[in-house]
Amino acid sequence: MSCQENQPVVGANAGPVIDSPDFARHGGSLSGSVAVAQLSRLADQLADQAGSLAFELRGVRDEEGKSFLSLSVTGSLNLRCQRCLAPLPFGVAIDSTLLLVAPGEEWPDEELEDDRMDAIEASRELAVLPLVEDEVLLALPNSPRHANCALPATMETQARPSPFAVLAKLKDH
Ligand SMILES: [Zn+2]
Repeated sequence: MSCQENQPVVGANAGPVIDSPDFARHGGSLSGSVAVAQLSRLADQLADQAGSLAFELRGVRDEEGKSFLSLSVTGSLNLRCQRCLAPLPFGVAIDSTLLLVAPGEEWPDEELEDDRMDAIEASRELAVLPLVEDEVLLALPNSPRHANCALPATMETQARPSPFAVLAKLKDH
């Protein structure tokens, strides 16, 4: 008997695709790695596209019958420092829980208040790599900077006076 139908389908470039409700119901698990260069939506924020990220996806179904995907992503990226524009190494360590919402089912607001919980549509053909890419995009800092940036601090203060300094001046006069 063939189990072929239950295996994730791996496309040439698209990566694995899972039947997400089925994956959760059966406690599926899938791990792999993706080249950073393949995650094109990240490209704008990176200094280079070297390396790869490892991911692990697990299907979970709780006692209430809710289905989840548990996704972890690890690796490192070279972001670009927003101050000196040099590469800024960034460690990726994502551990998210994604609630599967069946089409037509109510979208639960309260679950989403937890930062580590997202809801996604319970697609029967869920592409895993775009999901990994989504989670990485959410995890990136808005304005990455070196903790000890090589660029002299004075250049920045001249360029952008702090709003508090401006307010203080207004009060003085
Ligand atoms: Zn810097």
